[in-house]
Amino acid sequence: MKAMKHRCPICGKESDSETNADFPFCSERCKLLDLGNWASEKYVISDPVFDESQFDDDTPPPPPDKNTDRTK
Ligand SMILES: [Zn+2]
Repeated sequence: MKAMKHRCPICGKESDSETNADFPFCSERCKLLDLGNWASEKYVISDPVFDESQFDDDTPPPPPDKNTDRTK
C-alpha cells in the first residue's frame, strides 16, 4: 500500500497514512474534535429551530432596514 500524506483537517498538521492510525487526522484528539463538530452540527439540524405557531398572529415581521444604520 502506497503511503499517503495529508494535512489534518482540524489543525493542518501533516499526517502520514502509513504511520498514523488516525489518518487523515494527526492524532486521536483531532479525530474526536472532528467527530464532535460533526455531531453538534447534526444536532442543530435535527433540532426544530422555532415553533411556527408563534408566528401565527397578525404581527408583521420588522422591516430589515431598521436595524442597519446606513448613513449615506
Ligand atoms: Zn490535527
